Formats: sequence, C-alpha cells, structure tokens
Amino acid sequence: MAALTDDTLSLLRGAYVGTLIGGLVFFLLWEGGAPRVAFGSAPERRRHVLRNLGMLLLVVLIADLVVGAWLLGTVTRIGAPAPGWLSRFELEWPALLVIGVLAIDLFQYWWHRACHAVPWLWRLHRVHHSDTHLDVTTGARFHALESSLGIALLVGTMLLAGIPLWVELVRTIAVNPLILAQHANVSFPRWMERAARPVLATPEVHRVHHSRLRAEQDSNFGQMLSVWDRLFGTYRQPPAASATVGVAGLESDDFQSVAGMCATPFRRI
Ligand SMILES: [Zn+2]
Repeated sequence: MAALTDDTLSLLRGAYVGTLIGGLVFFLLWEGGAPRVAFGSAPERRRHVLRNLGMLLLVVLIADLVVGAWLLGTVTRIGAPAPGWLSRFELEWPALLVIGVLAIDLFQYWWHRACHAVPWLWRLHRVHHSDTHLDVTTGARFHALESSLGIALLVGTMLLAGIPLWVELVRTIAVNPLILAQHANVSFPRWMERAARPVLATPEVHRVHHSRLRAEQDSNFGQMLSVWDRLFGTYRQPPAASATVGVAGLESDDFQSVAGMCATPFRRI
C-alpha cells in the first residue's frame, strides 16, 4: 500500500496524545472520587502521582523524543511502507493493521517475559513492579532505559517483518487506555471483567502480575491479549482476594522517589 498522508498522520498523533492524557485525567478523577484502595492521605496520593508522572516525563524526553525520533528519522518515516518480509504480499491497510497488531502484541508478550527472565533486564523492569500502591500512574512508571530498549527493538523487528510504523501508532491509541485501566485504582463492574477476561488482559488479570510473590509476578505477561498467556502456559486465574503488590526489598522511600527509581537498576537490594 501507499504511504499515509500527512493529514491522516496528524489525526492519528492527535488521537494518540488525546487518549493518553484523556485516559490519565479520566482515571485520576475516578480514583479521587471512588478509589478501590484509598491512600493513607491526600498528600501521600499526590506525591505518588507526581513521582510516577516524573518517570513518564523522563520516558517521553529520553525514550520517545531522543531514541524514537532518532530511529524514525534515520530508518524510515512513520507513514511509509516498511521494507521487510510482509511487503512482498502487497497487503491493503486493513490486513496490515490486523496482522501488525497481533504480531506486535506477541512481540510485547515475549519482550515482557524476557524482562522478567534476564537478570539485567529485570533490574530495569523492577522499577515498574516496585510500586507498592497501584493506580493509573503506575501504567506510566517505567525506567527510561527499559522504554528506550523496548522501542529500539520493536522498531527493528517491525521493519524486518515489513509492518509499517503507523500500525504501532494506531495500536497504542487503543492499547494505552487499556494499560491505564489495568493499573487504575478503581473497581470495574464484575460482568465487564468476566466477559473480557477470555480474550483481554483485564485489570484483575494484570493485578496478579504485580503481586509481591515471584511466582505470580512471572505470570500474565500479556499486554493487550490474555490469549498468549493461555497459549504459552503462563496464564494465572485471578484469586478471589487480590495480592499485595510490589517487589520485596524495594518498598522504602529510597526506591520510590524519581531519583531512587532512576538509580534502582544499578543498586543492590
Ligand atoms: Zn512485568
């Protein structure tokens, strides 16, 4: 297929930023009015939110602006067709979108598994897991090095596979609100959770992944679909009572401040 027009791209970029910021504001308001687990005090909640958003700012500055812009600028334009394997089939955009979204979700599943299995990757990824109180901002709490590596690997894989980069832009418009919902400190209706669970990585399914128990952390890796976990034997049914979240040894304030989180990968526990 031909390259995407600049108009379509700016529409997609607007939708990306809009759903991310809109999702954050929506859940922050909901959490303020009806939290699932209340914080000890309002200042405690505010500090938690600001710290995690501080990590998001670093990811945007370092991973998205530096690594992302460099990759997109040097390798290819985001709206252009990708040169890799799939390009030989000359697929139309709907087919590219469906195949691309499934392939990227499968990539994210294995990248997430690698982040738990490879010790030095876990040092980076444990920053996300060290949050002792999940809320919508936990979905934005990642070490910038982990995000940079993830973006570089994903872009490389997409170009080799022949999936145009705009597929990832469209995918994130749908997946970012789901990632925010997975961490949000709110209660969704039970029927909604049960209906979505066979296919999607729902908030309760993902909460098991944030347990302090290592065996539970090493399950439910799926970002969008729960299907990969079922297929590869890592699915764990959410228990009736939700587990305590966090990483043993990383609870103190030393590991919860922005500077502490940035230093976490390089520190001994
Ligand atoms: Zn994880």
